[in-house]
Amino acid sequence: MDMKDGVTAPMRIRADLAICEHCDSVHRRGALAPGEAADCRVCGATLYRRSRLDVDAMLALTLAALIVFVLANAAPIVTMQSGGVTTRGWLMTIVASAWDHGVGPVAAIAAGTVFLFPLAQLALYLFVLLAVKLPARPRGFVAAMHGLRWLRPWSMVEVFLIGILVSIIKMSSLARVTAEAGLWGFGVLTILLTALSTFELRELWDAHDA
Ligand SMILES: [Zn+2]
Repeated sequence: MDMKDGVTAPMRIRADLAICEHCDSVHRRGALAPGEAADCRVCGATLYRRSRLDVDAMLALTLAALIVFVLANAAPIVTMQSGGVTTRGWLMTIVASAWDHGVGPVAAIAAGTVFLFPLAQLALYLFVLLAVKLPARPRGFVAAMHGLRWLRPWSMVEVFLIGILVSIIKMSSLARVTAEAGLWGFGVLTILLTALSTFELRELWDAHDA
């Protein structure tokens, strides 16, 4: 979609204006259909887009991700068999064992990017999505939105998933390693979190201001 009214030199930032990141031209925001994008009239760069998902779809996705998050953490990730001994590894036991083996910072980063940040992100999504459905602005909405914008890049379940897969391949020469339900759970969680990240937070501000 082409934006119609190109406006120059705004006196202050206004919610109804969009500034092109590439050529600094200023445009008036228009309503978009789901999946549509607004392009800069001057240079053709994408100004902003509207997700294919609406608030209800996002809410369903968030609840599904929370359930998968609980299941992925409750189920073991791998089973190792070596010398007649079977060992099961859950996310938290793997993190604890990394801590015990003197790689505390690695354990802390893993616990943050795989457990704390995704959980906090999902909790904030749940809060802001329910908040935009309420008639009045609940306390903490603005703080939750800023928290969400800050947290999104830090939730990196996919990095952990690749690390686990590499470890499984490396260990497979020493022991019989089997992937368990928890690993598939984190795989599904990665897909759900990626789908959630396609949603522009701007749309929640708009839904809230409307
Ligand atoms: Zn432009």
